[in-house]
Amino acid sequence: MPSTLTTKQPTIQLKTEVPGPRSRALFARRESAVPRGPFHVTPIFAAEAHGAALTDVDGNRYLDFAGGIGCLNVGHTNDAVVKAASAQMARLVHSSFNVVPYESYVALAERLNALAPGTFKKKTFFVNSGAEAVENAVKIARVATGRSSILAFEDGFHGRTLLALSLTSKTHPYKTGFGPFAPEIYRAPFAYCYRCSYHLQYPSCAIACVDALEDVFKRYVPAEQVAAVIVEPVLGEGGFVVPPGEYLPRLRALTEKHGILLIADEVQTGFGRTGKMFACEHSGVVPDILVTAKSLAGGLPLAAITGRAEVMDAPGVGGLGGTFGGNPVALAAAHAVLDEFRDGKLLERANAIGEAFRTRALAWKTRVPLIGDVRGQGAMWALELVKDKATKAPAKEETTQVTQKAYERGLLTITAGTYGNVIRTLMPLVVSDAELREGLDVLEAALTAVGGGRG
Ligand code: PLP
Repeated sequence: MPSTLTTKQPTIQLKTEVPGPRSRALFARRESAVPRGPFHVTPIFAAEAHGAALTDVDGNRYLDFAGGIGCLNVGHTNDAVVKAASAQMARLVHSSFNVVPYESYVALAERLNALAPGTFKKKTFFVNSGAEAVENAVKIARVATGRSSILAFEDGFHGRTLLALSLTSKTHPYKTGFGPFAPEIYRAPFAYCYRCSYHLQYPSCAIACVDALEDVFKRYVPAEQVAAVIVEPVLGEGGFVVPPGEYLPRLRALTEKHGILLIADEVQTGFGRTGKMFACEHSGVVPDILVTAKSLAGGLPLAAITGRAEVMDAPGVGGLGGTFGGNPVALAAAHAVLDEFRDGKLLERANAIGEAFRTRALAWKTRVPLIGDVRGQGAMWALELVKDKATKAPAKEETTQVTQKAYERGLLTITAGTYGNVIRTLMPLVVSDAELREGLDVLEAALTAVGGGRG
């Protein structure tokens, strides 16, 4: 495992104004050559990154609490990942698993089958991205059940390809103008207790949002037509919303009652982010299909659909596939990632990171009026910013300003939330204690600069 020893020098080193001249020049070229659609949280251009630090083309070094949107749980250019992927590059880059298969694919499937929750026999199939994995999970669930409808949640995010985007709940900017969307998708509120759709309070609500699904089955789609419920155990893009402990078990019971498959989308929560290998493990809920991607291959594109063997075998021969899915280099990287998790230290580290964040953030909340909610699990923590703690009016502009002030001071963070008013942390789990303190100091300064309160 990479070192988490305390560093003597600060990681953040800014040599130019941010963005520096080289980044600014590249940005101008980018504007002319690349469509405006792909958004950037920062205007800096990356040159290299190691561990939890990223250096831009002007030689400025930043602390990275965004981790390429949660893909770098084992750290940037993790030594073992680089070694495994480089060695694989020289042996076999691509033969397509659909033309000439290779052992590393089968071996990684075996490892994920063993790691995924559930004692039943499982099988795994690989694709390139989270969205592609979600699409395949839905296709498999439809064939396995002979049913067509899918139930997804408000504030959920499942990707940007057309079926995945149909499941995604946020309109602007993700969905605006891209319809018509896939049919037979139904939606219900998630257990977003800070903004409960039913204006109830936990625990006196008795998790009414799960009971409300019975209503959906009466009003919108009969349960016997629903192939699967797809759920993120902790909402990612939706704002790091952690449901109460009983929520997922109640949802699991409801799906079992109606013969509906449960798809857990652990694209963002997977591989240690929440302090367990998979977030489902916190509640003991066992999904029928588990979808993973992001940190699976240490920054290389790889995604997996792992599920009950009989469900996964429902599509016929040739029904599933893709040219690049389960690429040998990405698979070699993923084997190295799983090796890094073997001794359990990264999971311990995720919990320690989360505890450090929680302690600091709760102290900020008492003195920074902007912070409405502090929530998270493991190393997946977030701040929801509001203009007024009583009305909870989302503070979107202020959230953007905080991320801007943070990167200008050398800390990379990203936002989330349907209202764009959540700051989330997806730092590599190899971040050292000193780096964590340094990053939190910057975040505190940025919050204080925008939101007032004592520093
Ligand atoms: N599902 C979840 C929960 C995600 O967070 C994401 C991406 O952020 C996706 C699916 C889509 O993954 P990708 O961007 O790799 O297509």
